[in-house]
Amino acid sequence: MKILTLNCGSSSVKYGLWEMPGEQPLAQGLIERVGLADGIITHTVTGRDPVRRDRNFPTHGHAIEAVFEFLTDESHGVVGDVGEIDAAAHRVVHGGEQYTHSVLIDDDVITAIEDNALLAPLHNPNNLAGIHHAMTIMPDKPHTASWDTAFSAAFMPDRATMYAIPYEYYERFGIRRFGYQGLSHLYVTRRAAALMGEPSSDVNIVSLHIGNGSTVTAVAGGMPVDQSLGFSTCGEGLVMGTRCGDLDPTIPLFLMKHAGLSADEAEDILYRKSGVLGLSGRFVDRREIIDAATAGDTRAELALEVECYRIRKYIGSYSAAMGGIDAVVFTAGVGENSAVHRAKACEGLEFLGIEIDDDKNRAAFGRTAEAEISTADSRVKVFVIPTDEELVMAVDAEAIIEDRYDIPTRFRYTFEESGFVPTYLRMG
Ligand code: AMP
Repeated sequence: MKILTLNCGSSSVKYGLWEMPGEQPLAQGLIERVGLADGIITHTVTGRDPVRRDRNFPTHGHAIEAVFEFLTDESHGVVGDVGEIDAAAHRVVHGGEQYTHSVLIDDDVITAIEDNALLAPLHNPNNLAGIHHAMTIMPDKPHTASWDTAFSAAFMPDRATMYAIPYEYYERFGIRRFGYQGLSHLYVTRRAAALMGEPSSDVNIVSLHIGNGSTVTAVAGGMPVDQSLGFSTCGEGLVMGTRCGDLDPTIPLFLMKHAGLSADEAEDILYRKSGVLGLSGRFVDRREIIDAATAGDTRAELALEVECYRIRKYIGSYSAAMGGIDAVVFTAGVGENSAVHRAKACEGLEFLGIEIDDDKNRAAFGRTAEAEISTADSRVKVFVIPTDEELVMAVDAEAIIEDRYDIPTRFRYTFEESGFVPTYLRMG
């Protein structure tokens, strides 16, 4: 069975074609700058060098057409025609309280994606655009949705999900903590358990997805019990590229009352002009932050310190929330690549049993291996694990189509088995 995975972001489309069972990636690609000038598609067939083309993609429709064009291309394609693709698995950010695991897309699911756009206005509409276009090209094939909210929203206890505001706002508007980036947290925590040789039900893990957007999940016995990003995709928790993370709720109110900002302007500042960009005044890319801090730029140094201190606080508080931990996992662009962030985030946590080996930490870089970076004596294992959300989507879609899917905490993923080879190694 050939399964296409599609992830439509606001200005990008990430895709992959998988041969299942066996989780063999046939091709992967990324279309950037959708709806903007100077679009780019990078298409990689397994075992070959990437092909890069400059082309403009005015809409998500144009981008999805290009995905099928490249997959069926005479020189760079991996299938003869679209009919050889058996199913499409779509990443959707917000499934609300209703969708707590991956599902086959039907009219009710489409309506739920539209309804939940109120909670994820930057994401759900783009996800839906991708679904509509792919359904037009593959009208008779099954399409599945895998939700970013599902892993955490389904399992967190009320004490973690409820905000201490009048209960009626939960009842009227569904204001609660959902948690995001669940496909990534699911993948890396299952891999960490596998690397420890334990079933995921036997270990407590703090999972750190640190990228442009960042989240931390407390996963106890395979179940998410708390998550840093709460109600919206733009708010709480860790310091991100342009988003503030944890904030005294009176600050936006103060800005609106005393700095003359409208609600939209306050939102723009907190979502797009805060985070390490707001603190440094110049940089979003953490490589630039590290370089500038090293060169003595005090604002860049401040941004780095605030970001890493916030991560450290979450490791501590989630360790307490779970009554102790067995592992910490770093993933995503910053988590996989920045030894500086990992070292600073774990500084002073020896009292929790977390000890980093500096040489192993420095050596863990790039999507080439899963690394254990803790010392031999460290009671808590610290891992760097390249994430693979698309693989979770493909495995879920295959299982749904074969009618053997179950909720994530009961479903045993192939990537939990010993001998599993990560996708980046299979890509050659
Ligand atoms: P993501 O959203 O997961 O794609 O992560 C994007 C972030 O990863 C950007 O802020 C990059 O600066 C950061 N990143 C990539 N490589 C490195 C590196 N070597 N050191 C620090 N940050 C990095």
